[in-house]
Amino acid sequence: MALLRVRNLEAFYGASQALFGVDLEVGEGEVVALMGRNGMGKTTTIRAITRMLRSSRGEVRFAGRDLAPLPSFRAARLGIGLVPEGRRCFGPLNVRENLTAAARPGAWTLNRVVGLFPRLGERMGQQALTLSGGEQQMLAIGRALMTNPRLLILDEATEGLAPVVRREIWAAIGELKRDGQSILVVDKAFRELRDLADRCVILARGRSEWTGRPGDITEAIETSLLGV
Ligand code: ATP
Repeated sequence: MALLRVRNLEAFYGASQALFGVDLEVGEGEVVALMGRNGMGKTTTIRAITRMLRSSRGEVRFAGRDLAPLPSFRAARLGIGLVPEGRRCFGPLNVRENLTAAARPGAWTLNRVVGLFPRLGERMGQQALTLSGGEQQMLAIGRALMTNPRLLILDEATEGLAPVVRREIWAAIGELKRDGQSILVVDKAFRELRDLADRCVILARGRSEWTGRPGDITEAIETSLLGV
């Protein structure tokens, strides 16, 4: 059974429909990349899965449970750890408080997060709003891991960061994968996604147009669906 199973997902912003039928699955220990050009529905898909966007139709099952009727905090409690677009750390709280605020028991502890992102260890007492963009992103990932999620969802985790920081974040995501963490990842870094993902789902105009292994993405697909 897939950990996450999405079938024929449609989603709406008021009267305007943004998703017209998205299918995707994430298996236990699998890394799935959700790809597609700007505005094709990646963030909307993630918001519908995590129930932050409630006006949707279709099937969203997580660990066998139907998420449709649940508010987003209940979906999170079932084991979905979201690193949202734009990071959204709690600015006035310090690093330690951000990490412990949503912590739940499991293998991920403060020490283990600091092991993954040593920079956070040096800044435990610092207010989140005073961190650099890269540090805030590490904090957002650390905070999601502290909930000990069965599925980690990363939305644009490397956007707007310096190349050296991006590399650090991709290295950390690679480590999570080797640990067996199930991950759904949205990013524009095509090369990195290709190296990392077990499977890719490409969205176009609110639909999943193509699903397959990264090695099977042809040049024609790149041109028509990814605009690479
Ligand atoms: P990007 O890579 O630019 O972040 P995306 O693939 O994540 O794009 P979405 O942000 O999911 O795309 O947007 C999908 C569609 O839904 C777009 O047509 C967008 O204009 C529309 N949309 C997104 N957010 C809203 C909103 N809050 N209200 C109305 N329409 C929205």
